[in-house]
Amino acid sequence: MNCDIVVVGAGMVGAAAASLLARSGFSVAVVDSHEPVPFDASEPVGLRVSALSPGSANILSEAGAWRQVERQRHCPYRRMAVEDRDDSVLLEFDALEFGLDRLGTIVENSLVQWSLWQSLLTMGGVELFCPDRVTGLEYIEGAPSVSLESGATIRCRLLVGADGANSGIRKLLGIRQDHWEYGQQGLVSVVRTSTPNPGLAWQRFLEGGPLAFLPLDDGSSSIVWSLPEAETARILALDDESFLAELEQAVAGGDQHWPDRVTGCGPRAAFPLTMRLCERYTSNHSVLIGDAAHVVHPLAGQGVNLGLLDAAGLVEVLVDARNRQLDIASEKTLEKFGRWRRSETEIMARGMHGIRGLFIPEELGPLRRIGISMIAGSWTARDAFIQRATGRNRNAPALSRGVALTDLLRASPA
Ligand SMILES: Cc1cc2nc3c(=O)[nH]c(=O)nc-3n(C[C@H](O)[C@H](O)[C@H](O)COP(=O)(O)OP(=O)(O)OC[C@H]3O[C@@H](n4cnc5c(N)ncnc54)[C@H](O)[C@@H]3O)c2cc1C
Repeated sequence: MNCDIVVVGAGMVGAAAASLLARSGFSVAVVDSHEPVPFDASEPVGLRVSALSPGSANILSEAGAWRQVERQRHCPYRRMAVEDRDDSVLLEFDALEFGLDRLGTIVENSLVQWSLWQSLLTMGGVELFCPDRVTGLEYIEGAPSVSLESGATIRCRLLVGADGANSGIRKLLGIRQDHWEYGQQGLVSVVRTSTPNPGLAWQRFLEGGPLAFLPLDDGSSSIVWSLPEAETARILALDDESFLAELEQAVAGGDQHWPDRVTGCGPRAAFPLTMRLCERYTSNHSVLIGDAAHVVHPLAGQGVNLGLLDAAGLVEVLVDARNRQLDIASEKTLEKFGRWRRSETEIMARGMHGIRGLFIPEELGPLRRIGISMIAGSWTARDAFIQRATGRNRNAPALSRGVALTDLLRASPA
């Protein structure tokens, strides 16, 4: 089989990229080892949720999935507060002061994946290979030829690796990656509080790492609690009552007077926290996007947002190349994408890394309060932070800034 582009990995990032590329008129083959589980709103809220920026909502809308997401369980939030471990508020943001109706939307990952999958199933120009996996990559007359476990072979002009943090495509391409182990895990659960979550994304930096409460549509909260590995194992093993007691201690006090009493919890799970940055995002007729290219600390909830920006950026660069009648897989075209997205991602990844480091030593307490109060007091710094976090900064892809795909397709080359 021959097509323009093979996308390996139909997680949130790969599926969004595949959908946008097919809607742009490229023929696309999608390979994934697992079909997504159908979303069922009668089931309890899933453990994996994401804070999606307004820019990501724009991108998912152009990928044909956001309307489906908004019809189901989701929770827009307007306010965000960040507290230090002594309970003082370091930073507060309200969408209204930036002319926005929301700072983001909390959505279950499984709903986003399922909505994108539905859009791929009904779209022309897309061939799905699922469940299947890549077993080999060779180049025939310079073009990638991908062999699959099923025995199929797909020859394409461009290969997109969107197969997550342990990307097999990255390994096949021989792209080197810097890797930091934080020695921490992110413990996740859904919890109830005596006063429902007032639509606030709340985070406190504790001695062991940040603890975040993200609002859900029924007033409960999805938590991400970053903890040292040994502490994670201990807290996972607690019974519910002891877990709630520890959690309540961690949220006690605070200028927000919320979260107050933690009254119930669902199941708990934990995920290792790492930072991974690939030395480049492109190689011979191939690109990496999403977690395959970069993994960032979840303290600012940016991982999938960065991946969706990659997907939108890739479409923008490829459409521009096609409009100029250039080769979509030439080194020059791919480098334009790789340099752009890598520099943007590095700013965010290293920023998260630095902020995390700033909160570890106790003795930095007074210094970080001075530093952060300078940021909090500067409209320019606050605005720049929000522009980037919401995917609307000057360097963000056009689709994230609200430009329609049809306008991108019509646009004359930049
Ligand atoms: C605790 C925690 C909280 C987080 N919270 C947030 C948040 O609030 N906001 C946010 O933006 N991000 C958040 N993130 C990060 C976010 O979850 C990831 O960045 C995102 O899921 C990455 O998506 P992806 O599509 O790139 O990769 P994945 O979701 O890993 O998808 C990869 C896909 O590739 C497929 N695949 C893998 N190997 C193969 C193979 N060999 N052959 C075929 N297919 C294959 C898999 O089946 C999968 O479908 C969080 C992360 C953690 C750990």
